[in-house]
Amino acid sequence: MDRPALTAGKVYDRLLAVYGPQGWWPGGHDAFEVIVGAVLTQNTAWTHVERALAALRGAGVLSPERMSGLGEPELAELIRPSGTFRVKARRLRAFLDMLYAHFDGDLAALLALPVGALRKTLLAVPGIGPETADAIALYAAGKTAFVIDAYTRRIVDRLGLAPIERSYGDYRALFTSALPADAALYNEYHALLVEHGKRRCTRRAPRCCGCPLVDGCAYARSSGAAML
Ligand code: SF4
Repeated sequence: MDRPALTAGKVYDRLLAVYGPQGWWPGGHDAFEVIVGAVLTQNTAWTHVERALAALRGAGVLSPERMSGLGEPELAELIRPSGTFRVKARRLRAFLDMLYAHFDGDLAALLALPVGALRKTLLAVPGIGPETADAIALYAAGKTAFVIDAYTRRIVDRLGLAPIERSYGDYRALFTSALPADAALYNEYHALLVEHGKRRCTRRAPRCCGCPLVDGCAYARSSGAAML
């Protein structure tokens, strides 16, 4: 007989019980730095992003005013450690162009938009997709935007909870329809999913034995790990 599927709430409770609060970007981080980090982390590991952020900080250009004074080639050179640096320089440039064209460079005014308008504005910037827009809305603006990344999709798929359409919005709805609209909760949940994806539910050879989700996981059932 099939076991009942885990709910989004139960997954959260179990991950929190095992890994504890992750404390991602809990404040004290500059909003612009969070935005730059969200663009730079596209298709690369966070360790590479940290090197690029350190280079920007060292050059004294980690602010909208200072960065907007840089030429694109100069910016690209500084963010080289993050990979695909020319593309990312273009994306940062496009973000700054939007910020100055529509908000006179006032980042606080952009981030004060209601979450729907903020997402829409960010998604209109070339190179900013839903994952980056939600990361900015959640971590830079503190809005109720649930971030769906590759870790989240993998864990959801393996648990057997994948939505039929598998679009970004459908994955997001899986969480937002089941959870209270709470930015701190979304923040913690995303961090826990990333931790679980790194530590246990890895891309190759997930470590199912002893996983806190094993009794409700379709992958573990089909591979026999749930019986161990
Ligand atoms: S039981 Fe295995 S596949 Fe399922 S969530 Fe845990 S680690 Fe991932």
